[in-house]
Amino acid sequence: MKRVFIRTFGCQMNEYDSERMYALIKDEYTLCQEPKEADLILVNTCSVRKKAEEKVYGLVGRLKHLKKQRPDLIIGVCGCVAQQEGEKILKRLPHVDMVLGPQAVYRLPEALEKVKKGQGPVIDTEFKPDFHQPLIFPHLNGTRPVKAFVTIMQGCDNFCAYCVVPYTRGREISRPPEEILAEIECLVKQGVREVMLLGQNVNSYGRKEKGFPSFAKLLREVAQIKGLWRIRFTTSHPKDLDHELMEAIADIPQVCEHLHLPVQAGSNRVLKRMNRKYTREEYLAKVEQLRKLCLEICLTTDIIVGFPGESPEDVEETLSLLKEVRYAEIFSFKYSDRPLARATQFEDKVPEEEKARRLAKVHKLQEKITREINESFIGREVEVLVEGKSHSNETLWTGRTRSNHVVNFEGEGDLKGKLVHVLIESCGQHSLRGQLVNILRGE
Ligand code: SAM
Ligand code: SF4
Repeated sequence: MKRVFIRTFGCQMNEYDSERMYALIKDEYTLCQEPKEADLILVNTCSVRKKAEEKVYGLVGRLKHLKKQRPDLIIGVCGCVAQQEGEKILKRLPHVDMVLGPQAVYRLPEALEKVKKGQGPVIDTEFKPDFHQPLIFPHLNGTRPVKAFVTIMQGCDNFCAYCVVPYTRGREISRPPEEILAEIECLVKQGVREVMLLGQNVNSYGRKEKGFPSFAKLLREVAQIKGLWRIRFTTSHPKDLDHELMEAIADIPQVCEHLHLPVQAGSNRVLKRMNRKYTREEYLAKVEQLRKLCLEICLTTDIIVGFPGESPEDVEETLSLLKEVRYAEIFSFKYSDRPLARATQFEDKVPEEEKARRLAKVHKLQEKITREINESFIGREVEVLVEGKSHSNETLWTGRTRSNHVVNFEGEGDLKGKLVHVLIESCGQHSLRGQLVNILRGE
């Protein structure tokens, strides 16, 4: 067998695409852990922020000496940077053999064939989604899977002013429901107990396609699959979160009580310039409605600080929104210019040092809120799906609550893949710690 080294940057969608790439070539290649051992190196890239893009150039640049030692080595740059930069990658990194955009990763075998026949380098950045793919996804870390990603749509039509995704992943297309259900059934047969349905905006699933169910109806169909214990999904655009979906979240038992609902900013002026298509008031009203329907729901969000034209007063509005919603966790970023994204042309940029100051303020406030929420779990029994041993401490098991909190706990026997009750005894900033109480399912 030949060997392949795969490095994935960025979001869950990229992780899913990397698993697919491996599934497509696994009869010919086995996974290896070091680039120097590999016959094929695939770097699956992210271009959502400049820093992620720079990391890719750094890593692929360093592979030049390997290619010099072994000219047969094949190097592929895949994903969003590949789409965005296309031919420019070959100019900057002439040792690269394949440049495959996010929708071309499914055509990896054809690209490899061409390179092997000496017809490279191959550049494929065509937007041509192919949802009819092999249904077995070996996990890249080689472990028995407990949870898995399932892509339900490609691309995005929203064109938020800061975002490169509509340009790198193309227009929004939903995957046929029967393909999604078949894939999940197949995963469940392999032992998967939890799926995360993926799309840039899953709330608009099926709206463009004739005869497709709404996302809420799709959730109800997925919930019929026997042996699937938990359903999660990401990402939800607040403008498309409707009552039908809120009801589905509240009353489908398998749907976990966690919603990632990116708000980005707390000020209406900034939200408008970002082209988010909701106001602070509309967002807060939806949060209130959801919390009424689903008392246990736990919210997380994304925040951008330093968007062009953002004033200190706008930042205060973001901070006050964080206090009002009390997210369990946030992912916060300094705004970064992206090619083609509209905000790149905006003139009133916020200086880097000021962005850093604003980010620190957001972090400080959120750390306190997260800590308080984590502490509120102490003394409670929670349901945990056990994913395996903790990476940092082999004597502990690790898993997640329905609210998506990481729990590390002590417990005897092989608990992987089991649904258990854990009594929470203490907490840190990023995880809860406890003791096994009993096994609920999976014995
Ligand atoms: N479709 C999802 C959504 O709407 O939230 C995910 C988009 S993106 C992959 C994930 C997050 O990156 C966004 O929610 C946003 O907070 C952040 N992001 C996107 N473009 C950015 C930029 N130019 N600068 C800083 N952060 C950015
Ligand atoms: Fe980017 Fe906005 Fe689409 Fe999310 S919804 S991928 S932030 S354009």
